[in-house]
Amino acid sequence: MVDVGTQTERFEHRRSTPLASPEQSDDEWSFSDIINHSGDMSWSPGEEMLSESSEEEPEELESLTDPNAVDKFIVCQRQLLSLFTVCSACCGETQGHIMHPEGTFIKVKQACGTCGYERYWQNQEKVHRNMPACNLLLSGAIHFSGCMATQTIRMLKLFGLQCISPGTFFRHQRYYTIPTIVQAWRTEQRGIIRELKETGGGLILSGDCRSDSPGHCAKYGSYSLIEDRINKVLDVQLVQSSEVPSSSWCELEGLKRSMQFLMDQDMQVSALITDRNRQVMMLGEI
Ligand SMILES: [Zn+2]
Repeated sequence: MVDVGTQTERFEHRRSTPLASPEQSDDEWSFSDIINHSGDMSWSPGEEMLSESSEEEPEELESLTDPNAVDKFIVCQRQLLSLFTVCSACCGETQGHIMHPEGTFIKVKQACGTCGYERYWQNQEKVHRNMPACNLLLSGAIHFSGCMATQTIRMLKLFGLQCISPGTFFRHQRYYTIPTIVQAWRTEQRGIIRELKETGGGLILSGDCRSDSPGHCAKYGSYSLIEDRINKVLDVQLVQSSEVPSSSWCELEGLKRSMQFLMDQDMQVSALITDRNRQVMMLGEI
């Protein structure tokens, strides 16, 4: 059999915003890249050895208790249950049984027939409303990475990994991940508005509408406004085509709502750059 080798990526500390990946394919990795990637300081034998700073310990401790920051590993059932074959009280032979699987969550019961010792082990913490942490983290990872949920879950099931159902994902999406995105966006938007007010001067805006489907049968249009001086999205408005005469009017309605929002924030617009949408052009001529 041909040995195809195995490449793994080193775990790094998690960030709220992922960093851009280097433009490099797997085959281009060299040994020196891996050494430099680890972030180790270079050391020459003549230098005095310095002891590790104890200030890093609290951060390490925190990363072990935070389910989001802690590393996860795939474990096969046989290897997992082999950890429950010896009674820790009398060293007799025992068996572990998997109980209550719930998405990615499992609980193992170890019972000793000789001395009656029992213990329970679970593979993850439970969080809000007794919900297994990794179930929510998996839903978040699928949603925030932009992957298709049903395809991703099908792939994981094909691999043989015990994981959440699409129904659980969509429930998490509705009650947790979408509200989190909305909250994060509003916080970001408040920061941008504060930054622009401190900068002063009139806004220089570029705006355009994006429909959820091509042609004249779109159901939703999302209108985005970018502030050109700071090159950041300042506002996004979602318009449903049933709110306006036809889907081609979504753009004008989105623009009006964005302008109203900016007026409510006491912001002055110096310039607005749009494409040649007929309704928006008519508004510009008035
Ligand atoms: Zn025992």
